[in-house]
Parts: sequence; structure tokens; C-alpha cells
Amino acid sequence: MKNISPITLFLLIFCVGANAQQSKFNDEFLQQVAELRDAALTDGLAYDITESLTTEVGARLAGSPQDAKAVAWAQAKFKELGFDRITTEAAPLKRWTRGQETAEIISPYQHKLTITALGRTNPTPDEGINGEVVHFATLADLQAADKSEVAGKITFISERMERHKDGSGYGKAVGARGLTAQVTAEKGGIAAIIRSIGTDNNRTPHTGAASYDEDTPSVPAGALSNPDADLLVNVLKRKQPVTVKLTLTSHWDGDYTSQNVIGDMLGSEKPEEYIVIGCHLDSWDLGTGAIDDASGCGITMAAAKLIKDKLGPLKRTIRVILWANEEYGLSGAIAYHDAHKDELRQHILGGESDFGAGEIYALGTRVAESAMPTIDIMMTLLKPLGIEFAGNNGSSGADLIPMRRAGMAVFGLKQDGTDYFDYHHTANDTLDKVDPKALAQNVAAWIVVTALAAQADHDFGFGLTDKTE
Ligand SMILES: [Zn+2]
Repeated sequence: MKNISPITLFLLIFCVGANAQQSKFNDEFLQQVAELRDAALTDGLAYDITESLTTEVGARLAGSPQDAKAVAWAQAKFKELGFDRITTEAAPLKRWTRGQETAEIISPYQHKLTITALGRTNPTPDEGINGEVVHFATLADLQAADKSEVAGKITFISERMERHKDGSGYGKAVGARGLTAQVTAEKGGIAAIIRSIGTDNNRTPHTGAASYDEDTPSVPAGALSNPDADLLVNVLKRKQPVTVKLTLTSHWDGDYTSQNVIGDMLGSEKPEEYIVIGCHLDSWDLGTGAIDDASGCGITMAAAKLIKDKLGPLKRTIRVILWANEEYGLSGAIAYHDAHKDELRQHILGGESDFGAGEIYALGTRVAESAMPTIDIMMTLLKPLGIEFAGNNGSSGADLIPMRRAGMAVFGLKQDGTDYFDYHHTANDTLDKVDPKALAQNVAAWIVVTALAAQADHDFGFGLTDKTE
């Protein structure tokens, strides 16, 4: 779209109501944003950044040697891209280290299963443990079970995650991953296995964090790949005792200090006010974390770089935060919130790209009503990308939860997640799953929202009621 549409002009002229904030974007600026949006659709920078992180650093589990490598990579990449100010901020964490992970059916016959340990769970002895399997269809069934059914056994939850474009099957199924280790321990079980929280049919189990606190008993726990969970369900249907051997030596491993890496493109009029975008720098360790979340880093770093190069400095600072240890602690998010809690109001609007590399189909916001005229203008610029408005009850990525709860205005650019949970947290999360064209469409959308927010003459509200929780 090269020209300002009649709808944009209408919005600019008539839709700024008496109580609404003035947006005051001029036609030339909106036209430049539209041109940059269109140019971004054929730009390869986001893909190059994603390729660089997944190739030069690879897997980057928080607290592992690759954690520090990723931090160094991020600082060098921000520098190479010409960011005005690059800083790091400490993000302390309890380190969890992956060990050996094997599982096999011992009886009624011997057969190896594919398994991965759930993050933040305790180890089995090095020689493993054997136990009879007790099957529950859902977490709720395990929670309702009598202790006598579970004591001395290995629990198995077989609920399968549903596939949906918006990823809503994840929220429904992921409770099993979170709670099975603790509920099993509470009922006297010796270990827990679940069906992977994933939608594929590959023998690639999905890891992910379990709930953990030092005062609550927990048992070793792992996720079986979907085909192996199917097999175990069928073997159990034969109504004979099934015994499994598990060796899961992953364990807690002392303290570590990771870093949030922050790249600022400084504002020309209000450099102390921030539009916060970004991704999480850490990943699980089974694949190279290409869709989770190197893609989010590629998208948001490229958006900030292209804005600076093509639009020049905007009024506010564009702050790209590469968050530390999202996966098993939100360590970077918590540390940043605590370090900046006296200046949260300077964080004008925030979003995180953390849902893979699929195309964006909707924008959701959580901003003051007075800022809606600017959201309407964003929408006129997003519509040509096939993006609809998803309402003003939106959310953002996990790393913005502490600041959102404290009142910060947020937005979420919703990506097509139809295939995301085929690869999420598996050894199959690799670069070939990233479609450069879809990634470029993401950059175009992030440019629109980020540039207009950084240039707007008003804020987006603070202290907004958190309607999602
Ligand atoms: Zn992620």
C-alpha cells in the first residue's frame, strides 16, 4: 500500500473524540510506515538473525555453557545492527541440568520408549527405578484418585493435546506437565510419566517445565512421545500389570546468574520512555530453539533495526529485551520488573514475540480506551497483511506478565500456531521449520505497531485491570 487509504484519513480527521488522546501522526509519517511495512515483506534480516543464533549458539538452556554464549552473541548482534545503547542486567536463577533419560517397558515384554525429563523435576537414582504403571486419562483423574491406587507406582497421564490455530489446546493440556510430579508424590507414587504436550505423531518427546518448590514433595517425571504414549495405553488395555523402568538423572544444580540483554534505539524527544518488544534468549536444549524463540528474536531485532534505518529515530526509545530463562523460571522477567519497579510508568507499551514463526493473523491489545484511535490507525496499516483486530482484552508474552500485572499496557500479535506444537520443546525445533516469508510478514506487523507506539503523542494507559486472570 503506497498511499494513505481513505479509511486512515477518516480515522485521522474524525475519530479523535473529545476524551481521546490526540494521535497527531502526519500523513508523511504514516506513508513512510506503510512503505517500510511493504519493504519488510521481502527483507531477509529476521531470518538471518534466526539462522545466526541457532547456528552459532545452538541450544541455550538457561545455566548451561551456551547461556553465556547466547548473551555474548546478543551483545555482538545488537552492536552489529547499530543499536544506540546495549546493556545487560543480572537474572539470578536456580540451575536445572539435564541428565540421562531412558525408559523401557520391562513387562509384559521388553520395549524401549522415547522419553524426556520434565524441567525442574528431581532425578531417579543413576541405576533407574522400576515400577508398575497406573493409568489416568487426565490430571483431574489422578487428582481424584485414592492414595492406595497410586502408592508405590509410576503414574501415567495419557490426555492428548488438541490442535488449534490459536494454540488453545496447550492451556487445556499443560496442567498435567505442571502438576503430575507433585500430585504423584503427594499420593505416594514413585515417579510420573505423561503423554507429551504436543500435537505431532513423531517419536520426539516434548520437554517443558513442571511446577516445583522446595517445600513440596516431588518425584522424577518425564514425557513420552505421542506414539509411545499410544503404545503404552494399548498395552495397558490388555488388563495385565505393566512394569516400566525409568532412568531420569536431570537435577537441580546450584545457583547461576544469567543476563537479560537489552538493545535500545533511543528516542529523539522522550528517550526515557520505552516501547518494549523482544523475545526470550534461552531455549530448551533438545533442538536449537529455532521457533522457540530464536524467531522472536529475529522478528523484533529486525523490526527495530529497520525502523531506525528507514524512519530515523522516533520520539520514544524502542527497547528490545532478550529475556533470560523464560523456559523454567521467568528469571529475566522477574529480575527486570524488580529492578525497574520505580519506573514502570516509563514503559509505555510492551509485547513479546514468542509463538514461533507462523504468520500473524490478529492484533490484541490491552490499552486505555483513550488510546483506541491510535490502535484503529494501526489496524488500517495491518489490514493489508491479513491481520484482524482481536479486541482490547489481549495479553502478551510470558516475560511481560510481571509488568502487565503491575499495570503496563500490552499488545499481542497473534501467530498461526496450527503446527507450532508439533515441534515446540522437542529435538525437532530446528531452523528448517522457519518459513522466511512468514517471518518477514511478522516483521512487517511488528514495525507498524512499534513505530506508531513510539511516535504517538500520548501514552497507552497504566494500571489497567487484568481481565485475563
Ligand atoms: Zn518460548
